[in-house]
Amino acid sequence: MPVLVINCGSSSIKYKLYGLGPEDLLAAGIIEGVGGERPRHLHATGDREFDTEVEVGDYRQGVAAIVNSLADWGSPPPIGDPAEIVAVGHRVVHGGDRFSESVVIDRSVIEEVESLGTLAPLHNPANLAGIRAARELLPEAVGVAVFDTAFFSTLPPHAYRYAIPEHWWRDFGVRRYGFHGISHRYLAERAARLLENSRPNLVTLHLGAGASACAIRDGKAVDTSMGMTPLEGLVMGTRSGDIDPAVVFHLMEAGLPASEIRRGLQREGGLLGLSGTSSDFRRVADRARAGDRAAALAVETFVHRVRRYLGAFLIQVAPCDGVIFSGGIGENSHEVRHLILSGLETLGLVVDPARNRGEGERRISADTGSVDIWVIPTDEESLIARDTARLVSHPR
Ligand code: ADP
Repeated sequence: MPVLVINCGSSSIKYKLYGLGPEDLLAAGIIEGVGGERPRHLHATGDREFDTEVEVGDYRQGVAAIVNSLADWGSPPPIGDPAEIVAVGHRVVHGGDRFSESVVIDRSVIEEVESLGTLAPLHNPANLAGIRAARELLPEAVGVAVFDTAFFSTLPPHAYRYAIPEHWWRDFGVRRYGFHGISHRYLAERAARLLENSRPNLVTLHLGAGASACAIRDGKAVDTSMGMTPLEGLVMGTRSGDIDPAVVFHLMEAGLPASEIRRGLQREGGLLGLSGTSSDFRRVADRARAGDRAAALAVETFVHRVRRYLGAFLIQVAPCDGVIFSGGIGENSHEVRHLILSGLETLGLVVDPARNRGEGERRISADTGSVDIWVIPTDEESLIARDTARLVSHPR
């Protein structure tokens, strides 16, 4: 039964089409630059790849282009008719306090996701636009929402509450929600299989353009580096991560408008802010190797912040069964993994240099270490497809 997974970001739509199950990938692609000057549609199916400019002014047109491509592109195309798609799984960034697991989408779900838009103004409206487009274009298909916050519904209050006036929490929803939950849940479930331990204690590190750490005890999330928004925590491509909140008043009192401070923390901070040149880790690391001092500091600060959380989370999940690296940086940079893990042998974290330099999903710890260390490429779409297929077969 073909299941389409749609992930509407702030300017792109990523998608994957699955056949018999999450192992059976029929097509994958992305439309970049939705609503921009020259949107592109990249699409792969079988051994064919397509890369074309498309006229896509909004998410509805984007989803329409995707649905058409699935029935038109390839020899043969993966489906004969869009009506064959039985279900559409959507990534929804913010489920607030309301959604602790994936749900079949109906009108009330749409209204509730809409009302959470104030907490995720960049993301939830795009996710909703994708949901509405799919309901219109594939009216027979069941829609399922899979939330990036849901995995963190098991956080205890002492981990999700901030030490602020109580009514800020009650009246304005100010608390830690956590993000990247689909990825951390995928990593936790995959690690449970690989470690042959159904309820492992883990620290999962999703290190990509956005980056977050998660503490997992008995297979459930107990803490995360991301906060009320995806700005808290690790140093990211353009996001500052942790910062003293008094910096904001200091800058406001110095005359900076709120919009400029927001831009600085969200779009001009992180690796970009520190290096002054790029938000892309690979480029920053290349410049650091070539002797650029600011770039070297960006890498060092990134690593330092990850180690800070790793230490804090190892204590929360002790005795730790596994540390998991994922995301574009965590999966691909053996140097970063080496820097993050160096000198931690007394904590049971011992890296095998040859395994660390390898590729793909693998254990990289030495046999002498007491904590398993793994690289696991994340696969959020397969988890969305799995939840979607489950809810379609066994609706609640
Ligand atoms: P997103 O959060 O957009 O999904 P990714 O998980 O794809 O991001 O991660 C993108 C980051 O991964 C970029 O900073 C990129 O430079 C980094 N990256 C990709 N490949 C490598 C590599 N071989 N070495 C170091 N960093 C890498």
